[in-house]
Parts: sequence; structure tokens; C-alpha cells
Amino acid sequence: MLVGIMGGTFDPIHTGHLIAAERARVEAGLDEIWLMPANVPPHKSNAPKATSQQRWEMVCLAAEGNPFFRPIDIEITKGGVSYSIDTIELLRKEYPTTEFAYIIGADMVQYLPQWHRIDDIVRHIRFIGLARPGYELDIAHMSANIRSQVTIVPMPLVEISSTAIRQERGQKRSVRYLVPEVVNGYMEVNQLYEA
Ligand code: ATP
Ligand code: MG
Repeated sequence: MLVGIMGGTFDPIHTGHLIAAERARVEAGLDEIWLMPANVPPHKSNAPKATSQQRWEMVCLAAEGNPFFRPIDIEITKGGVSYSIDTIELLRKEYPTTEFAYIIGADMVQYLPQWHRIDDIVRHIRFIGLARPGYELDIAHMSANIRSQVTIVPMPLVEISSTAIRQERGQKRSVRYLVPEVVNGYMEVNQLYEA
């Protein structure tokens, strides 16, 4: 079985994440997509605005109804800073016969050479990279051990980010259709990202 892992802060999860996950599934022939919220993302200077529990609940809501999507909470359950290398080691132990690929947008592709212990990571996992507005999808300059583990698949440019959604909500503006309806409802009920 080949599983695509889509990690993220998901603060909140949005339609761009879901489109990227579905494109990766179809284009790379993945059997399942596991949506995996980070507990504390290593690369971000600001802490998430929503709690881990709230981000987890929104991921669960967003995955509902798609039989290929499965939320997984291993990074949240583990706690602390969510380094991919630790997660990969946990996954390999827990699912020894499953093959994993990480699904990442262009901003994370660009950042790959700086990932904590990237040379170890690329020994175990390959990456599926997708276009994102504002970021180059250029891997030609990366070292061969990294480059050879990245597959770029087609993705319609989707100009949606969690940052923009938080800002819109802070100004009491609608983000309907930028996130699944159920996620929009959850943010409303829990007054998430309101100023
Ligand atoms: P923030 O603005 O808070 O950083 P974000 O929208 O970038 O949020 P993340 O949770 O940081 O969302 O991203 C998780 C993963 O999803 C990353 O690999 C990122 O590149 C990818 N991703 C997010 N939005 C898009 C998009 N619109 N198109 C393609 N990939 C995306
Ligand atoms: Mg981001």
C-alpha cells in the first residue's frame, strides 16, 4: 500500500489542502491520503492560533465523506515539536509494510534542503510536490539525493492560505467556499480567528 501523508499546521485546513491532496492521490496513484496536523510545526515562528485539538477536529470534519482521506493524530498525540524524521520513524515502526510519500506544496519544496535531518528523511520517504502561487517549483539546484526523491505533479494554482483565512475572519469577512462548509461552521461556532 502506498500512502500519501499530507502534513500541515492546518490552522485552519482549507480547500487548497484538499485539492492538493486529491491531485497527488490521482496523479501519483496513492491508495490513501493521511491528513496529519502537526503539534508544534518546526519551521514557523508564530504558534498556531487554534489549539491542537481544534485543528485536529477541523481536519476530521474536512476528511469526512471522502473514503480515501484519513485524519491521523500521531504528531499531536506525541506532543512537542513535530519533526518529520521522528514521525517517519514512528510510522515505519507502526506500519512496516506500508510505503509513504509526503505531499508538499511549492513553499515546502523550496524549503526542503533546510528540513531537519533531510538527508536521513530522503533515505526513507519520497516527496510529491505541487505548485502554489508565489513559489518556484524548481528543484534543479538541489543535491541529487534530495532531487531524486521529489516528483512534481500537476496542480491548478489555488490562491488560498490559512494565513489569509485567519486575516479575513479577523475582519469578519466571509471565507465560505475557501474552506469546507463543515469547517466554516466549526470556526463560526468556536469563534475562531475572530479579532
Ligand atoms: P499558513 O498560511 O498558516 O502557513 P498554509 O495555507 O500554508 O497555512 P499549511 O498548513 O502551512 O497551510 O500547509 C500544509 C501543506 O499544504 C504545505 O505542504 C503547503 O505547501 C501545502 N499547501 C497549503 N496551501 C496550499 C495551496 N493553496 N496550494 C498548494 N499547496 C498548499
Ligand atoms: Mg504554510
